[in-house]
Amino acid sequence: MKIHEYQAKDILAKYGVPVQSGVVIEDKAEATAAIKSVQDRTGVEATVVKAQIHAGGRGKGGGVKYSPTTADAVENVNNILGMTLITPQTGPEGQFVRKVYITEALDIASEYYLAVLLDRANECPVIIASSEGGMEIEEVAHSNPDAIIKEYVDPTVGLQGFQLRRLVKRLGLSGAHAKQAMKLIYNLYTCYSETDASLCEINPLVITDSDEVIALDAKFDFDESALYRQKAIAELRDEYEEPPAEVEAAKYNLNYVKLDGNVGCMVNGAGLAMGTMDIIKLKGSEPANFLDVGGTANPETVKNGFRIILADPNVKAVLINIFGGIVRCDRIANGVVQAVKELDLNVPVVVRLQGTNAQEAKEILAESGVDIIAADSLDDAAEKVVAAAQ
Ligand code: GDP
Ligand code: MN
Repeated sequence: MKIHEYQAKDILAKYGVPVQSGVVIEDKAEATAAIKSVQDRTGVEATVVKAQIHAGGRGKGGGVKYSPTTADAVENVNNILGMTLITPQTGPEGQFVRKVYITEALDIASEYYLAVLLDRANECPVIIASSEGGMEIEEVAHSNPDAIIKEYVDPTVGLQGFQLRRLVKRLGLSGAHAKQAMKLIYNLYTCYSETDASLCEINPLVITDSDEVIALDAKFDFDESALYRQKAIAELRDEYEEPPAEVEAAKYNLNYVKLDGNVGCMVNGAGLAMGTMDIIKLKGSEPANFLDVGGTANPETVKNGFRIILADPNVKAVLINIFGGIVRCDRIANGVVQAVKELDLNVPVVVRLQGTNAQEAKEILAESGVDIIAADSLDDAAEKVVAAAQ
Protein backbone atom coordinates (compact mmCIF):
# COMPACT_ATOMS: atom_id res chain seq x y z
CA MET A 1 0.00 0.00 0.00
CA LYS A 2 1.33 3.38 -0.98
CA ILE A 3 0.84 6.64 0.91
CA HIS A 4 1.28 10.32 0.08
CA GLU A 5 4.48 12.31 0.52
CA TYR A 6 3.03 14.42 3.35
CA GLN A 7 1.99 11.28 5.25
CA ALA A 8 5.39 9.68 4.71
CA LYS A 9 7.08 12.83 6.00
CA ASP A 10 4.93 12.80 9.14
CA ILE A 11 6.19 9.28 9.79
CA LEU A 12 9.78 10.25 9.02
CA ALA A 13 9.58 13.15 11.46
CA LYS A 14 8.39 10.76 14.19
CA TYR A 15 11.48 8.64 13.57
CA GLY A 16 13.79 11.64 13.78
CA VAL A 17 14.43 12.03 10.06
CA PRO A 18 14.58 15.79 9.30
CA VAL A 19 11.95 17.03 6.84
CA GLN A 20 10.80 20.48 5.71
CA SER A 21 7.86 21.96 7.51
CA GLY A 22 4.69 21.96 5.47
CA VAL A 23 0.90 22.10 5.37
CA VAL A 24 -1.46 20.01 3.25
CA ILE A 25 -4.72 21.47 1.89
CA GLU A 26 -7.58 20.25 -0.29
CA ASP A 27 -9.40 23.54 -0.81
CA LYS A 28 -8.10 26.51 -2.80
CA ALA A 29 -9.77 28.85 -0.32
CA GLU A 30 -7.27 27.72 2.33
CA ALA A 31 -4.23 28.56 0.21
CA THR A 32 -3.29 31.98 1.60
CA ALA A 33 -3.61 30.96 5.24
CA ALA A 34 -1.64 27.74 4.65
CA ILE A 35 1.16 29.53 2.81
CA LYS A 36 1.34 32.14 5.55
CA SER A 37 1.57 29.54 8.30
CA VAL A 38 4.51 27.85 6.56
CA GLN A 39 6.22 31.22 6.07
CA ASP A 40 5.66 32.18 9.71
CA ARG A 41 7.18 28.94 10.93
CA THR A 42 10.33 29.33 8.83
CA GLY A 43 10.71 33.07 8.41
CA VAL A 44 11.26 32.54 4.67
CA GLU A 45 8.88 33.72 1.95
CA ALA A 46 9.74 31.11 -0.68
CA THR A 47 7.69 27.89 -0.63
CA VAL A 48 7.26 24.83 -2.81
CA VAL A 49 3.77 23.73 -3.91
CA LYS A 50 3.60 19.96 -4.44
CA ALA A 51 0.80 17.84 -5.88
CA GLN A 52 0.00 14.87 -3.64
CA ILE A 53 -0.58 11.78 -5.76
CA HIS A 54 0.68 8.21 -5.41
CA ALA A 55 3.10 8.52 -8.30
CA GLY A 56 6.58 9.88 -8.63
CA GLY A 57 8.02 12.14 -11.31
CA ARG A 58 5.65 14.93 -10.28
CA GLY A 59 8.29 17.58 -10.89
CA LYS A 60 8.58 16.53 -14.56
CA GLY A 61 4.80 16.70 -15.02
CA GLY A 62 4.49 20.20 -13.56
CA GLY A 63 3.21 19.08 -10.17
CA VAL A 64 6.05 20.57 -8.08
CA LYS A 65 6.48 24.35 -8.29
CA TYR A 66 9.06 26.50 -6.57
CA SER A 67 7.25 29.68 -5.49
CA PRO A 68 9.45 32.67 -4.56
CA THR A 69 6.55 34.87 -3.38
CA THR A 70 3.16 34.40 -1.70
CA ALA A 71 1.44 35.43 -4.93
CA ASP A 72 3.38 32.75 -6.89
CA ALA A 73 2.43 30.14 -4.31
CA VAL A 74 -1.27 31.04 -4.46
CA GLU A 75 -1.19 30.88 -8.25
CA ASN A 76 0.58 27.51 -8.15
CA VAL A 77 -1.94 26.10 -5.67
CA ASN A 78 -4.77 27.25 -7.96
CA ASN A 79 -3.14 25.59 -10.96
CA ILE A 80 -2.12 22.32 -9.33
CA LEU A 81 -5.16 21.59 -7.13
CA GLY A 82 -7.73 19.95 -9.39
CA MET A 83 -5.37 19.39 -12.28
CA THR A 84 -4.95 16.00 -13.95
CA LEU A 85 -1.26 15.40 -13.48
CA ILE A 86 0.53 13.24 -16.01
CA THR A 87 3.95 11.94 -14.97
CA PRO A 88 6.15 9.12 -16.28
CA GLN A 89 4.56 6.95 -13.55
CA THR A 90 0.83 7.76 -13.92
CA GLY A 91 0.23 6.45 -17.42
CA PRO A 92 -1.23 8.66 -20.16
CA GLU A 93 -4.57 9.15 -18.36
CA GLY A 94 -2.85 10.94 -15.46
CA GLN A 95 -4.06 11.31 -11.90
CA PHE A 96 -6.49 13.91 -10.55
CA VAL A 97 -4.90 16.08 -7.84
CA ARG A 98 -7.06 16.33 -4.70
CA LYS A 99 -4.43 17.60 -2.27
CA VAL A 100 -1.44 19.90 -2.38
CA TYR A 101 1.39 20.12 0.09
CA ILE A 102 2.96 23.51 0.70
CA THR A 103 6.49 23.26 2.11
CA GLU A 104 9.22 25.68 2.99
CA ALA A 105 11.68 26.03 0.12
CA LEU A 106 15.23 24.95 0.79
CA ASP A 107 18.42 26.15 -0.85
CA ILE A 108 20.03 22.98 -2.07
CA ALA A 109 23.78 22.48 -2.15
CA SER A 110 23.74 18.81 -3.19
CA GLU A 111 21.24 16.03 -3.88
CA TYR A 112 21.47 12.32 -3.05
CA TYR A 113 19.34 9.22 -3.43
CA LEU A 114 18.56 7.07 -0.39
CA ALA A 115 16.20 4.15 0.05
CA VAL A 116 15.59 1.10 2.21
CA LEU A 117 13.75 -1.69 0.48
CA LEU A 118 13.29 -5.42 0.47
CA ASP A 119 15.71 -7.34 -1.72
CA ARG A 120 13.67 -10.42 -2.53
CA ALA A 121 16.52 -12.27 -4.23
CA ASN A 122 18.78 -11.89 -1.21
CA GLU A 123 15.89 -12.20 1.27
CA CYS A 124 16.91 -9.19 3.32
CA PRO A 125 16.54 -5.42 3.45
CA VAL A 126 18.98 -3.41 1.37
CA ILE A 127 19.97 0.22 1.66
CA ILE A 128 20.50 1.85 -1.69
CA ALA A 129 22.24 5.18 -1.92
CA SER A 130 23.75 7.35 -4.58
CA SER A 131 25.34 10.73 -4.89
CA GLU A 132 23.49 11.02 -8.21
CA GLY A 133 20.20 11.86 -6.51
CA GLY A 134 17.32 13.90 -7.85
CA MET A 135 17.61 12.30 -11.28
CA GLU A 136 15.95 9.10 -12.38
CA ILE A 137 17.69 6.51 -10.28
CA GLU A 138 16.78 3.84 -12.87
CA GLU A 139 18.65 5.85 -15.47
CA VAL A 140 21.72 6.10 -13.21
CA ALA A 141 21.56 2.38 -12.42
CA HIS A 142 21.53 1.67 -16.13
CA SER A 143 24.18 4.08 -17.40
CA ASN A 144 26.45 4.29 -14.36
CA PRO A 145 25.88 1.25 -12.08
CA ASP A 146 29.01 2.03 -10.05
CA ALA A 147 27.26 5.15 -8.75
CA ILE A 148 24.71 2.96 -6.94
CA ILE A 149 25.82 1.95 -3.46
CA LYS A 150 24.22 -1.07 -1.80
CA GLU A 151 24.42 -2.19 1.79
CA TYR A 152 22.60 -5.42 2.68
CA VAL A 153 21.24 -5.65 6.21
CA ASP A 154 20.95 -8.85 8.20
CA PRO A 155 17.52 -8.33 9.76
CA THR A 156 18.36 -10.45 12.80
CA VAL A 157 21.20 -8.17 13.91
CA GLY A 158 20.03 -4.94 12.26
CA LEU A 159 22.01 -2.17 10.64
CA GLN A 160 25.56 -1.99 12.03
CA GLY A 161 27.76 1.03 12.71
CA PHE A 162 30.45 -0.04 10.25
CA GLN A 163 27.81 -0.23 7.54
CA LEU A 164 26.69 3.33 8.24
CA ARG A 165 30.30 4.53 8.13
CA ARG A 166 30.90 2.68 4.89
CA LEU A 167 27.75 4.15 3.35
CA VAL A 168 28.52 7.78 4.10
CA LYS A 169 32.15 7.35 3.08
CA ARG A 170 31.12 5.97 -0.29
CA LEU A 171 28.68 8.87 -0.68
CA GLY A 172 31.67 11.18 -0.27
CA LEU A 173 30.41 12.73 2.97
CA SER A 174 32.60 13.77 5.87
CA GLY A 175 32.51 15.76 9.09
CA ALA A 176 29.14 17.10 10.21
CA HIS A 177 27.45 15.96 6.98
CA ALA A 178 28.55 12.37 7.55
CA LYS A 179 27.43 12.46 11.17
CA GLN A 180 23.96 13.75 10.30
CA ALA A 181 23.63 11.32 7.39
CA MET A 182 24.56 8.30 9.57
CA LYS A 183 21.92 9.21 12.11
CA LEU A 184 19.37 9.80 9.36
CA ILE A 185 20.07 6.47 7.65
CA TYR A 186 19.89 4.64 10.96
CA ASN A 187 16.53 6.28 11.75
CA LEU A 188 15.24 5.53 8.26
CA TYR A 189 16.15 1.86 8.68
CA THR A 190 14.34 1.76 12.05
CA CYS A 191 11.32 3.38 10.43
CA TYR A 192 11.42 0.82 7.60
CA SER A 193 11.50 -2.17 9.91
CA GLU A 194 9.05 -0.96 12.56
CA THR A 195 6.37 0.06 10.05
CA ASP A 196 6.55 -3.14 7.94
CA ALA A 197 7.43 -1.02 4.92
CA SER A 198 8.62 -2.64 1.71
CA LEU A 199 10.05 0.66 0.46
CA CYS A 200 11.13 3.89 2.17
CA GLU A 201 12.60 6.09 -0.53
CA ILE A 202 14.01 9.59 -0.18
CA ASN A 203 14.79 11.15 -3.54
CA PRO A 204 16.33 13.58 -3.22
CA LEU A 205 17.99 13.63 0.15
CA VAL A 206 19.64 17.03 0.20
CA ILE A 207 22.38 18.96 1.94
CA THR A 208 21.25 22.54 2.20
CA ASP A 209 23.31 25.69 1.89
CA SER A 210 23.20 25.86 5.69
CA ASP A 211 24.72 22.34 5.94
CA GLU A 212 21.63 20.47 7.04
CA VAL A 213 20.84 16.98 5.77
CA ILE A 214 17.11 16.82 5.01
CA ALA A 215 14.62 14.52 3.25
CA LEU A 216 13.13 16.61 0.44
CA ASP A 217 10.79 13.94 -0.88
CA ALA A 218 9.44 10.67 0.54
CA LYS A 219 7.87 7.67 -1.12
CA PHE A 220 6.71 4.72 0.99
CA ASP A 221 5.19 1.38 0.18
CA PHE A 222 3.93 -1.03 2.84
CA ASP A 223 3.50 -4.78 2.94
CA GLU A 224 -0.28 -5.27 2.74
CA SER A 225 -0.04 -8.57 4.57
CA ALA A 226 1.24 -6.72 7.65
CA LEU A 227 -1.45 -4.04 7.75
CA TYR A 228 -3.42 -6.04 10.32
CA ARG A 229 -0.75 -5.09 12.88
CA GLN A 230 -0.13 -1.58 11.51
CA LYS A 231 -3.51 0.01 12.24
CA ALA A 232 -2.24 3.60 12.14
CA ILE A 233 -0.67 3.01 8.75
CA ALA A 234 -3.70 1.17 7.37
CA GLU A 235 -5.71 4.31 8.14
CA LEU A 236 -3.52 6.33 5.78
CA ARG A 237 -4.94 4.45 2.80
CA ASP A 238 -6.26 6.80 0.12
CA GLU A 239 -8.65 4.82 -2.04
CA TYR A 240 -8.91 7.65 -4.57
CA GLU A 241 -5.35 6.85 -5.58
CA GLU A 242 -5.94 3.15 -6.19
CA PRO A 243 -7.48 1.49 -9.25
CA PRO A 244 -11.26 1.45 -8.47
CA ALA A 245 -11.64 -2.21 -9.46
CA GLU A 246 -8.86 -3.23 -7.06
CA VAL A 247 -10.50 -1.29 -4.21
CA GLU A 248 -13.80 -3.03 -4.96
CA ALA A 249 -12.15 -6.45 -5.18
CA ALA A 250 -10.38 -5.99 -1.85
CA LYS A 251 -13.78 -5.48 -0.16
CA TYR A 252 -14.74 -9.02 -1.15
CA ASN A 253 -11.33 -10.55 -0.36
CA LEU A 254 -10.66 -11.16 -4.03
CA ASN A 255 -7.12 -10.90 -5.33
CA TYR A 256 -7.50 -8.79 -8.44
CA VAL A 257 -4.91 -7.09 -10.61
CA LYS A 258 -5.99 -5.31 -13.75
CA LEU A 259 -4.00 -6.02 -16.91
CA ASP A 260 -4.20 -4.79 -20.49
CA GLY A 261 -5.63 -7.75 -22.45
CA ASN A 262 -9.20 -8.62 -23.44
CA VAL A 263 -9.83 -12.04 -21.84
CA GLY A 264 -11.31 -11.76 -18.36
CA CYS A 265 -10.21 -14.57 -16.03
CA MET A 266 -11.93 -15.92 -12.93
CA VAL A 267 -9.88 -18.64 -11.30
CA ASN A 268 -9.45 -20.17 -7.86
CA GLY A 269 -5.92 -20.34 -6.53
CA ALA A 270 -3.03 -18.09 -7.50
CA GLY A 271 -1.10 -20.91 -9.19
CA LEU A 272 -4.01 -21.92 -11.38
CA ALA A 273 -4.65 -18.23 -12.14
CA MET A 274 -1.05 -17.85 -13.36
CA GLY A 275 -1.33 -21.05 -15.42
CA THR A 276 -4.58 -19.79 -16.94
CA MET A 277 -3.01 -16.48 -17.91
CA ASP A 278 -0.08 -18.32 -19.49
CA ILE A 279 -2.26 -20.55 -21.60
CA ILE A 280 -4.40 -17.62 -22.79
CA LYS A 281 -1.21 -15.99 -23.99
CA LEU A 282 -0.04 -19.23 -25.55
CA LYS A 283 -3.29 -19.43 -27.55
CA GLY A 284 -2.79 -15.93 -28.91
CA SER A 285 -4.65 -13.53 -26.60
CA GLU A 286 -3.81 -11.48 -23.53
CA PRO A 287 -5.45 -11.74 -20.10
CA ALA A 288 -7.44 -8.68 -18.99
CA ASN A 289 -6.75 -9.40 -15.35
CA PHE A 290 -5.40 -11.68 -12.70
CA LEU A 291 -8.23 -12.75 -10.41
CA ASP A 292 -7.92 -15.33 -7.68
CA VAL A 293 -11.31 -15.86 -6.06
CA GLY A 294 -9.69 -17.91 -3.31
CA GLY A 295 -9.79 -21.49 -2.21
CA THR A 296 -13.25 -21.15 -0.73
CA ALA A 297 -15.03 -19.67 -3.74
CA ASN A 298 -18.82 -19.61 -3.43
CA PRO A 299 -21.70 -18.29 -5.56
CA GLU A 300 -21.34 -14.85 -3.96
CA THR A 301 -17.61 -14.55 -4.79
CA VAL A 302 -18.35 -15.68 -8.34
CA LYS A 303 -20.93 -12.92 -8.71
CA ASN A 304 -18.65 -10.23 -7.30
CA GLY A 305 -15.79 -11.48 -9.45
CA PHE A 306 -18.00 -11.23 -12.52
CA ARG A 307 -19.03 -7.68 -11.69
CA ILE A 308 -15.44 -6.56 -11.31
CA ILE A 309 -14.27 -8.26 -14.51
CA LEU A 310 -17.18 -6.86 -16.54
CA ALA A 311 -16.58 -3.32 -15.33
CA ASP A 312 -13.46 -3.37 -17.51
CA PRO A 313 -14.54 -2.22 -21.00
CA ASN A 314 -11.59 -4.08 -22.59
CA VAL A 315 -13.06 -7.46 -21.66
CA LYS A 316 -14.38 -9.24 -24.77
CA ALA A 317 -14.80 -12.73 -23.27
CA VAL A 318 -14.57 -14.34 -19.85
CA LEU A 319 -13.00 -17.62 -18.85
CA ILE A 320 -14.09 -19.20 -15.60
CA ASN A 321 -11.61 -21.86 -14.62
CA ILE A 322 -12.36 -23.43 -11.25
CA PHE A 323 -10.80 -26.53 -9.83
CA GLY A 324 -13.13 -28.11 -7.31
CA GLY A 325 -11.01 -29.28 -4.43
CA ILE A 326 -12.51 -27.85 -1.29
CA VAL A 327 -15.09 -25.97 -3.33
CA ARG A 328 -17.73 -28.07 -5.04
CA CYS A 329 -18.19 -27.49 -8.75
CA ASP A 330 -22.00 -27.75 -8.52
CA ARG A 331 -22.09 -24.79 -6.13
CA ILE A 332 -19.91 -22.76 -8.46
CA ALA A 333 -22.12 -23.73 -11.40
CA ASN A 334 -25.15 -22.44 -9.50
CA GLY A 335 -23.26 -19.22 -8.79
CA VAL A 336 -22.37 -18.82 -12.45
CA VAL A 337 -25.96 -19.39 -13.58
CA GLN A 338 -27.28 -16.94 -11.01
CA ALA A 339 -24.67 -14.30 -11.90
CA VAL A 340 -25.26 -14.63 -15.64
CA LYS A 341 -28.99 -14.17 -15.11
CA GLU A 342 -28.63 -11.20 -12.76
CA LEU A 343 -25.81 -9.32 -14.40
CA ASP A 344 -27.07 -9.09 -17.96
CA LEU A 345 -23.88 -10.37 -19.60
CA ASN A 346 -23.00 -9.02 -23.00
CA VAL A 347 -19.80 -10.99 -23.60
CA PRO A 348 -19.33 -14.73 -24.16
CA VAL A 349 -18.45 -16.82 -21.11
CA VAL A 350 -16.44 -20.03 -21.27
CA VAL A 351 -16.67 -22.26 -18.22
CA ARG A 352 -14.36 -25.05 -17.21
CA LEU A 353 -15.12 -26.78 -13.93
CA GLN A 354 -13.06 -29.76 -12.87
CA GLY A 355 -12.83 -31.77 -9.68
CA THR A 356 -15.41 -32.46 -7.02
CA ASN A 357 -18.94 -32.78 -8.47
CA ALA A 358 -17.83 -31.68 -11.94
CA GLN A 359 -20.43 -33.94 -13.55
CA GLU A 360 -23.29 -32.40 -11.55
CA ALA A 361 -21.94 -28.96 -12.46
CA LYS A 362 -22.04 -29.78 -16.15
CA GLU A 363 -25.66 -30.83 -15.86
CA ILE A 364 -26.61 -27.66 -13.99
CA LEU A 365 -25.02 -25.50 -16.69
CA ALA A 366 -26.54 -27.52 -19.53
CA GLU A 367 -30.04 -27.41 -18.05
CA SER A 368 -29.92 -23.76 -16.98
CA GLY A 369 -30.63 -22.41 -20.44
CA VAL A 370 -28.11 -19.59 -19.91
CA ASP A 371 -25.71 -18.85 -22.72
CA ILE A 372 -22.45 -20.45 -21.63
CA ILE A 373 -19.71 -22.15 -23.63
CA ALA A 374 -18.72 -25.33 -21.79
CA ALA A 375 -15.15 -26.62 -21.94
CA ASP A 376 -13.47 -29.75 -20.62
CA SER A 377 -9.72 -29.41 -20.57
CA LEU A 378 -7.71 -26.29 -19.86
CA ASP A 379 -6.45 -26.41 -23.44
CA ASP A 380 -9.96 -26.61 -24.83
CA ALA A 381 -11.15 -23.77 -22.55
CA ALA A 382 -8.31 -21.47 -23.57
CA GLU A 383 -8.89 -22.10 -27.27
CA LYS A 384 -12.60 -21.41 -26.92
CA VAL A 385 -12.22 -18.20 -24.95
CA VAL A 386 -9.52 -16.81 -27.26
CA ALA A 387 -11.76 -17.54 -30.27
CA ALA A 388 -14.74 -15.95 -28.50
CA ALA A 389 -12.77 -12.79 -27.73
CA GLN A 390 -11.85 -12.24 -31.38
P1 GDP B 1 9.02 14.17 -7.64
O1 GDP B 1 9.29 14.86 -8.94
O2 GDP B 1 7.65 13.56 -7.60
O3 GDP B 1 10.08 13.17 -7.29
O4 GDP B 1 9.01 15.31 -6.50
P2 GDP B 1 10.18 15.93 -5.58
O5 GDP B 1 9.62 16.18 -4.26
O6 GDP B 1 11.40 15.06 -5.62
O7 GDP B 1 10.49 17.31 -6.27
C1 GDP B 1 10.98 17.40 -7.59
C2 GDP B 1 12.16 18.35 -7.67
O8 GDP B 1 11.75 19.65 -7.27
C3 GDP B 1 13.30 18.00 -6.73
O9 GDP B 1 14.17 17.02 -7.28
C4 GDP B 1 13.98 19.34 -6.56
O10 GDP B 1 14.91 19.55 -7.61
C5 GDP B 1 12.84 20.34 -6.70
N1 GDP B 1 12.48 20.85 -5.34
C6 GDP B 1 11.57 20.36 -4.50
N2 GDP B 1 11.57 21.03 -3.33
C7 GDP B 1 12.53 21.98 -3.44
C8 GDP B 1 13.04 23.00 -2.56
O11 GDP B 1 12.63 23.17 -1.41
N3 GDP B 1 14.04 23.80 -3.06
C9 GDP B 1 14.54 23.64 -4.32
N4 GDP B 1 15.52 24.44 -4.70
N5 GDP B 1 14.09 22.69 -5.17
C10 GDP B 1 13.10 21.88 -4.74
MN1 MN C 1 11.39 12.89 -5.79
